[in-house]
Amino acid sequence: MFTNQNLLAIKEDALKEVAPYFARYEEISLFNTKKVLEAFKSCQLSDYHFTGTSGYGYNDQGREKLDQVFAHVFKGESALVRPHFVSGTHALATTLMAILGVGDHGKTIISAVGSPYDTMQTVIGSKGDRKDSLIKRGFTYKEVPLKDNSYDLESIYNAVDEDTRVVLIQRSRGYSTREPLSIDDIGRIVDVVKKKNAHTICFVDNCYGEFTETREPLEGGAHIMAGSLIKNAGGGIASTGGYVVGRADLVELTAEYLTAPGLGSHMGSYAPGYRLFFQGLFLGPHVVLQALKGAIFTAAVGKRLGYDVFPQVESPRFDLIQAINLKSPKEMEYFCQGMQAYSPVDAHVSPIPGTMPGYSDPIIMAGGTFVQGSSIELSADGPIREPYTIYMQGGLVFEHSLLGILGAVQNILEHRS
Ligand SMILES: *Cc1c(COP(=O)(O)O)cnc(C)c1O
Repeated sequence: MFTNQNLLAIKEDALKEVAPYFARYEEISLFNTKKVLEAFKSCQLSDYHFTGTSGYGYNDQGREKLDQVFAHVFKGESALVRPHFVSGTHALATTLMAILGVGDHGKTIISAVGSPYDTMQTVIGSKGDRKDSLIKRGFTYKEVPLKDNSYDLESIYNAVDEDTRVVLIQRSRGYSTREPLSIDDIGRIVDVVKKKNAHTICFVDNCYGEFTETREPLEGGAHIMAGSLIKNAGGGIASTGGYVVGRADLVELTAEYLTAPGLGSHMGSYAPGYRLFFQGLFLGPHVVLQALKGAIFTAAVGKRLGYDVFPQVESPRFDLIQAINLKSPKEMEYFCQGMQAYSPVDAHVSPIPGTMPGYSDPIIMAGGTFVQGSSIELSADGPIREPYTIYMQGGLVFEHSLLGILGAVQNILEHRS
């Protein structure tokens, strides 16, 4: 399979270096697995909760139990876990619109840590010129710029005023070079916001962050958070959906925005049933561990080949993203093609750069996933432009990540000689 002696030596050497870092995340996974089991026990999960209902879904016990379990694991008063959310962006946008729209505590949204994720910029209206963005609907938007590539508590304090309804805090780096936020970081930001305006709602975009630490954003003081079920919290087997957890009144507002005023969280059926959502949550901490191992190993291999990688092998990780700066557009192609060849799905196809709506440069991506677009499964992508950064994330089993990354690197090496 891998015959290049140099590559095999790099693999062995890298595995030695990463062992202590693997151990750190094994402990976190153990803690979080126990947390999920305790939630199942405390909520008295049984197999009849896996059965779906139809139509309105009144008294759908599976749906209600799933909400209860998520609230328990993520330490919220209540939760809204729904296959009806089409993506993480949908869960985030629904929450944002719901909590902005009512009450007289201000009309301003602040993004606390630089620009938010691309799709959220479209929702807010800081990018593009849609007529239905939050800005076009009359909300005011402010962005607190990064300072030294990190959050700036003083400027956050100064930005919040009596008109600030929501502060949006993105836990993951997204596709930026800033560091992701730890729960301690989130706690510091929330404290500063609360000090300035006790009515302001601190809303965390939790995508990619779940189970990377032993605590979650509500434990840092945030009021509400949302995320995707085809990332960490779905364990790689939830086939669609999103979740919202937090203060009960805010979660119920979100449920009424997702459905209709007067309906809320007591309706909604899902005939295929809920087993994969429960089982996905059960697998979540372990799958996050697998993905983190893949990311750390990638950093160790990348640096041995002379590439700039971020985060570094030894950096603390609060999301799943590993970036690696390759040397040319061609190397980005070789990397993605080499990784794709080790995918469980579509391994026989070869990715090439293509244009995507909303992006100015062509994008290349590798990702043969069981769930369409799932980024908790191993995938890699990046815009073809300097510094030729490939963002790699996910990986349900470390063995696969190892094969994928070595396949990627071998393909580059073969084209060098
Ligand atoms: C993935 C992600 C989202 C939502 O993306 P979807 O593709 O809509 O699920 C939002 N914010 C961050 C930081 C993300 O990583």
